[in-house]
Amino acid sequence: MGAKFEIGRIRGLPVFIDASFIILIVLWGQNYFVGGNTARMSIGFLVIVGLALSILLHELAHAVVGHRLGVAPSHIELNGLGGLCYWASAMRPEAWPRIAISLAGPATNLLLYVLFTLLGEMPVVSSHRLVFAVTDTLAWANGWMFAFNMLPAFPLDGGKALEALLGKLLSSGNARLVVGAIGLVIAAGCAYIGLGLGTIFGIGGGTWMLLLAFMLGLENFMAIQSASNPPWQRRN
Ligand SMILES: [Zn+2]
Repeated sequence: MGAKFEIGRIRGLPVFIDASFIILIVLWGQNYFVGGNTARMSIGFLVIVGLALSILLHELAHAVVGHRLGVAPSHIELNGLGGLCYWASAMRPEAWPRIAISLAGPATNLLLYVLFTLLGEMPVVSSHRLVFAVTDTLAWANGWMFAFNMLPAFPLDGGKALEALLGKLLSSGNARLVVGAIGLVIAAGCAYIGLGLGTIFGIGGGTWMLLLAFMLGLENFMAIQSASNPPWQRRN
């Protein structure tokens, strides 16, 4: 992606912020900061910090589990799509380590969903309207991050885990082909919603849904192409 700068290191692991992450923050924050209501702006500030930390914890979970399983993380990047954990060493070829590394991220969001939901049920939180608004939004957002990342499409964690699982039954090319095909169906579903043709699970349209459809469509199309071409014909 574009320009990125290091914001710090967590036990030696550099954390970068990509310029596109600022766009994501503006998209999240705009509803809270227009109108100049101080209470809403405070909620917005805490929600944005909470969301950024949730993404960071998701990526850290990939890094920690990878490190434990012998795949060294090189750095974490927060970007317009959320975040990414980059690896310094090659990914393990076996299915189970790859599945564990992929699922560590969404599992963290599921844990945070439960945590913020339980917090919201504590009287000290639920009786305080502003604090509850923050925990409620963060519970909802982590629930969505879990569900979204578990979608069986590239480049999402659910897609990578399914590819590794299918690789135990099929050739690696065919495993990639199956996930890519499911990914294209999901991309078509996002385009359907994004174009305002209908809703799925109550999710409505919007520009970001069209962007998502485009990104998923491209990634899964490329995955299918790389699966059906023998390695020596592969473009880099
Ligand atoms: Zn992830």
